[in-house]
Amino acid sequence: MPLHLYNSLSRRVEPFQPVDPERIAVYACGPTVYNHVHIGNWSLFTVADVLVRWLRESGYTVVYVQNITDVEDKIIRDSRAAGEDLATFTERWAGAFLAGMEDLDNKRQVDHFPRATDHVDGMVTMIQTLLDRGHAYIAEDGSIYYRVSSFDHYGELANIKREDLRAGASGRVKADEYEKEDVGDFALWKGWVEEDGDVFWDPTFTIDGEARVVKGRPGWHIECSVMSTEILGPRIDIHLGGEDLLFPHHQNEIAQSEAALDVHPWVTTWMHHKHLLVDGAKMSKSKGNFHTLKDLEDRYGKEITSAFRYLIASGHYRNSLDFSFKGLEAAERTIKNMRAARESLAAAAGNAAPSDYAASFEARFVAAMDDDLNTPEAFAALHDLRRQARNDTAAGELSAEDAAAALALLDKADRVFGLSLQQEARALTPEQQALLDERAAARAGKDWAASDRLRDELAAQGVLVKDTADGQEVAFE
Ligand SMILES: [Zn+2]
Repeated sequence: MPLHLYNSLSRRVEPFQPVDPERIAVYACGPTVYNHVHIGNWSLFTVADVLVRWLRESGYTVVYVQNITDVEDKIIRDSRAAGEDLATFTERWAGAFLAGMEDLDNKRQVDHFPRATDHVDGMVTMIQTLLDRGHAYIAEDGSIYYRVSSFDHYGELANIKREDLRAGASGRVKADEYEKEDVGDFALWKGWVEEDGDVFWDPTFTIDGEARVVKGRPGWHIECSVMSTEILGPRIDIHLGGEDLLFPHHQNEIAQSEAALDVHPWVTTWMHHKHLLVDGAKMSKSKGNFHTLKDLEDRYGKEITSAFRYLIASGHYRNSLDFSFKGLEAAERTIKNMRAARESLAAAAGNAAPSDYAASFEARFVAAMDDDLNTPEAFAALHDLRRQARNDTAAGELSAEDAAAALALLDKADRVFGLSLQQEARALTPEQQALLDERAAARAGKDWAASDRLRDELAAQGVLVKDTADGQEVAFE
């Protein structure tokens, strides 16, 4: 069975049919850079990464774009509050985002990270086209709005009925984010207001035959329509985002792109990732269950990113995954077991050529991934293979060729999930453990000089010691 994906537009699982099988265009809505990105966003970026890895593993050539939104309502609000200009402020948070992408090994697959402020000319051009075609107009507040009633397909993705639309679409919304109840003409270009400070552009639009400078800035939705088009062209095969982006953001992206580019459908497959829960509840700062990747790295060290990837991929992207530290720690143990299994298989395989030992497991793995990225089932196939190989090893029945076959499938899975399984399962040597014990004693005796010396000695051997409330914690360099 070829790859099938659930399409939010048709609300069905469909066979994947690329516009150009030689070049798959994938776009994922990236972060709005005004703070650390939370783990719900990281979860989406990881799902998108696994999708692209799977497409590439399946032999497709993919162009994968993930944008960086660096001008938007919240950014302007927070940069002004911080007393920083837009570029300085967004550079810092874009940097933090890219560092997280690197830590999570999500960065290598991305071909382009366009930034909205580098594409304002293209946004002006697309807005002009929409004005020329009667899909946009300038209002008394000096902003240019999209005329929702001019687009016949409006509401199809968000499943809004035309009647409801007519009832609700009388008004206008200038905010980037709003609810379905507030559906209405949305801002393509936001006329400058005092709160925007020095964040503005002053392009000339031709409106009703007259040239008019409209000082202002782009709306959020037009940013994605333009960045995706300028890099990927007028058709996109797969567009991903969190479920919260389906309305209004993605619905509005469709309205803009299809009306300006004369295409339908602009995006063949829309994929939406279900919200991550934390400890059974929606993440919120007030509930105290709001976590960033930095929180996890501060608590467990950077190596935790493999466990995070495993945890996310162990659930299906269309089901809510309930994140907890306990779950993350369990994922970390699984990764360690997988690394140990890989290591012993590699030792048993030597240079042998693989037999067909893993064929049925591989068929299960591939079928699961092709079935709308059924990652839980793909992992089940891997864990069954691991169990079988362990039993056969214990019974003295696993040949070098069989071990090579099992190893090859583990490595294939590692390319798809990015779990760094080739990393050796490391442990302290008895000498290092003795140094660590000696250091604990030195600290108990408040001999800080000895404690520091022993820490440096261990660090020189690649063993990093951190002092926590529970005692010394060790990480390997
Ligand atoms: Zn977007």
